[in-house]
Amino acid sequence: MALRNVREQGDAILGKISKEVKEVTPRTAELIEDMLDTMYEANGVGLAAAQVGVLKRIFVVDVTGEDPFVFINPRILETKGEQSGQEGCLSVPGKTGIVTRPNYVKVEAYDENMEHFVLEAEELLARAICHEYDHLDGHLYVEKVEGRLMDVEELQEEESEEA
Ligand code: ZN
Repeated sequence: MALRNVREQGDAILGKISKEVKEVTPRTAELIEDMLDTMYEANGVGLAAAQVGVLKRIFVVDVTGEDPFVFINPRILETKGEQSGQEGCLSVPGKTGIVTRPNYVKVEAYDENMEHFVLEAEELLARAICHEYDHLDGHLYVEKVEGRLMDVEELQEEESEEA
């Protein structure tokens, strides 16, 4: 298991456009393994290669903690509906904000063996895919936050007051 350093907001690499992957070399396979390790270690639900400083069109997502998906050269084919909810990012630690995303996405990509697949996703998985996809084009969710970005701690205080 190898953890990679997660780049944080303000790091120029997070604003860059990632490049298509032509083949999964042993180095790429190692990158993907490390990305999964890094995501799980940080209790994240997704991580894009750019977040660990590699400008390749790769991201990993796992919204349940036991069902990881690897997306290489993904393309979003279709979106439907809307969902509004809290979002966070390992590159923007301690912060959260409300973002509206499609409630459904149909995406095609290649997996870690460069096998093509099409996935239809809803709700949290759809949100995570859209969030990670944005990283490939140099965008952070903070650009899409409605209202203001909040501290996670501040939000937890508000929630405990409500309860
Ligand atoms: Zn992110």
